[in-house]
Amino acid sequence: MNLIKYFPSNINEECGVFGVFNCENAAELTYYGLHALQHRGQEGCGIATTDEVEIYRERGEGLVTEIFSEAKLAKLKGDNAIGHVRYSTAGGSGIDNVQPFVFRHYTGDFSLCHNGNIVNSRALKLMLEKQGSIFQSSSDTEILAHLIKMDFRKDRLAAIVEALNMIEGAYAFLIMTPKRLYACRDKNGLRPLSIGKLNGSYVLSSETCAFEAIGATFSRDVEPGEMVIFEHGKEEITSLTFSYGSMRKMCSMEFIYFARPDSDIEGMNVHSFRKECGRIMARRFPVEADVVIGVPDSSTSAATGYAEESGIPYEMGLIKNKYVGRTFIQPSQEMREKGVRLKLTPVRSLVSGKRLVLIDDSIVRGTTSKRIIKMLREAGAAEIHVRIVSPPMRHPCFYGIDTSTYEELISACNDVEKVCGIIGADSLCFLGEDALLEAGNRSELCLACFNGDYPTFLYQTKSELNTEGKF
Ligand code: AMP
Ligand code: SF4
Repeated sequence: MNLIKYFPSNINEECGVFGVFNCENAAELTYYGLHALQHRGQEGCGIATTDEVEIYRERGEGLVTEIFSEAKLAKLKGDNAIGHVRYSTAGGSGIDNVQPFVFRHYTGDFSLCHNGNIVNSRALKLMLEKQGSIFQSSSDTEILAHLIKMDFRKDRLAAIVEALNMIEGAYAFLIMTPKRLYACRDKNGLRPLSIGKLNGSYVLSSETCAFEAIGATFSRDVEPGEMVIFEHGKEEITSLTFSYGSMRKMCSMEFIYFARPDSDIEGMNVHSFRKECGRIMARRFPVEADVVIGVPDSSTSAATGYAEESGIPYEMGLIKNKYVGRTFIQPSQEMREKGVRLKLTPVRSLVSGKRLVLIDDSIVRGTTSKRIIKMLREAGAAEIHVRIVSPPMRHPCFYGIDTSTYEELISACNDVEKVCGIIGADSLCFLGEDALLEAGNRSELCLACFNGDYPTFLYQTKSELNTEGKF
């Protein structure tokens, strides 16, 4: 559905949310949960708790281990908590945008945090500002709070449902009041959100890897278009469908790149998905080679799958320095290029004189592949056959994953042969969309950054989309 409307939204957020309901040491558990979700955002983090009366909050710009100390956690009283790790792009940095947000209102205080991106945020913000709302941050997350309180005479549940139905885009929301916790997922199911159990209490997480980290067990996923309500004094959780006609358009990039391999997304383990993609790749695009290598860490699973299926041995031909942040997070092109060099080093003795199959999860701008191929050639590789376990990325993401603009996407204006030449590979193959569905054993996924078929309206003007001649 390529329907373009007005008003752009320029803040992308690749974030993680975590929540605890009715459990001692809620703040501490959230700290460990957020630590397990740190790969989803390194720019800022925060935790809000409640003791059923007050809402307490600590937040800061930096990693979970940098922001929280034992003293800070001790200030976060109560058995309920929500937490957030944040990564933002243009216009979205600064402490004001670090979540969870806390809102004070005479009808009751509440706190909220969000993973995803609201595509009609500009239109909604304008409407709210015209009605007198004053925003504290430039984050689109705050819009939900204003929508909830737009008509504060309304029943709280009805107000939340109405607000959720006004926003369009990708979201996993956690909303915490002194007595309740609400967990909501957008009707397309673009972002993951799972429920876990810990000694009779409930925990919530963007990814199931955080359950393992705190000794909790997976219970179920929040369904697309569902709101799950946790309430004091009620053993059972309440489920409410706020949007009918829901879809299962889980973001395919969660499987391909973003999520941790030890997480399960909608019943599918991420490592197994990636490994299966590698196997399919080996069947569809075989090549004579001596060694298979993967770009660590996100491509290791696919590389082992390719090696097993092809019979070509897998080697650790590239080593990652764990103490350098993700290359993508560094802002300028120049910095990114430096970052790749700092982050990855080839193992000369394993690659020299060898014909390599180089597996990577995706090509966005092409910077990483180009630098890695150059490094491997300098280390003596005889041939480099690149196999990308996702389709060419031709369209930007509007749902919270930083995949760049049309101008920067190397596959938006170059065919596969041209990209192969630009990155300097001997051969280059991409996996088809059908392979992703096959590997995930599912019939639906969001594949919009590959095929432009966005599951929602985009609320962007043509020039804002930078799409002249593309749609
Ligand atoms: P590029 O150098 O722009 O082609 O980036 C491609 C590399 O970035 C791949 O090796 C991916 O592992 C990684 N990548 C893909 N998508 C993202 C993203 N949204 N954020 C950060 N890194 C990404
Ligand atoms: Fe994920 Fe791509 Fe869809 Fe964005 S457009 S939600 S990155 S699959």
